Amino acid sequence: MNVFLGIDWGGTYIKAGLVDSCGKIIKKKVYSSSQLREKQGFINNLKLLLNDFSSFTPLEISGSKKKRTKLLTGFNIKGIGIGVPGIVDVEKGFIYYLPNIPGWEKYPLQSVLKKKLSLPVFINNDANAFALAESRLGAGKGKKRAIFLTLGTGLGGAIISDGKLLEGNTSANELGHVPINLAGRLCGCGGRGCIETYVGNRYLLSHYKRLKKNKTKVKDVKELFQRGLDGEGEALVVWKEFSHNLGKFLAGMINVFNPQVIIFGGGVSGAFKLFKPLVSKEIEKQVMWPQNLGLKLVRAKLKNAGIIGAALLAKDKLAHSS
Ligand SMILES: [Zn+2]
Repeated sequence: MNVFLGIDWGGTYIKAGLVDSCGKIIKKKVYSSSQLREKQGFINNLKLLLNDFSSFTPLEISGSKKKRTKLLTGFNIKGIGIGVPGIVDVEKGFIYYLPNIPGWEKYPLQSVLKKKLSLPVFINNDANAFALAESRLGAGKGKKRAIFLTLGTGLGGAIISDGKLLEGNTSANELGHVPINLAGRLCGCGGRGCIETYVGNRYLLSHYKRLKKNKTKVKDVKELFQRGLDGEGEALVVWKEFSHNLGKFLAGMINVFNPQVIIFGGGVSGAFKLFKPLVSKEIEKQVMWPQNLGLKLVRAKLKNAGIIGAALLAKDKLAHSS
């Protein structure tokens, strides 16, 4: 059975999955990103993972004799796709840098892994991988123009234009690094006042703690969402400011790209129910009508779009090269 290894490299977790050619996940493993911060650890773990996944045999085998034989022969991993949280040269599989993960500047990840793993490897941006999966199999299916956001540690973005992923010489689509405040705080990319520094989970949690004068602890964004739903004043202030900033920024993006849909993924999108009406209101106030006519704001549909998209990227590249 031909399969692809898809890796979704986020600021908090690195998720890996064995994916079949229809985009279905067969096996999955999750690491904490801090665990694999060093290059050598990352590469060694990938080797172990490949061994683990290729020898995997399902415990429950059912169906016809033919199907049974297929499952027992194991998986033929054809290639690896990796979605990384930063700017890459897509053709060369070269990482320029990762704004939230220092130490990977100017690193030829694709050629290093090809040598070490003896498999074709393809690198792209993590939000591009997410967008590809959602566009083919999820909430963006059938849409020609769509904006995809991954709201987590940072803000990843991708654009589907005329049914295709918008790319440049680099992975492009760095929506999170569009400045919304020219005198704003410094960002991991080296710029100032990027939208990411106003909507990333680290900022939301630290802003909430500041408002609470460090007297209340909050575990994560999920808890902050719950406190907002419960109507707690400071939590609502955080979500209102978040929505104000995101809405203004999105109005600008809508003015440029005229999308049919904006799709929200990533951990912070768990609070979609709370922020959607507020973001919609901000968009309406700012946007150049009728750029937003018929526009829908929706949550991502797939559970592991980053993994599936990375695997699909590898599948597509291999199909084009053969
Ligand atoms: Zn930035």
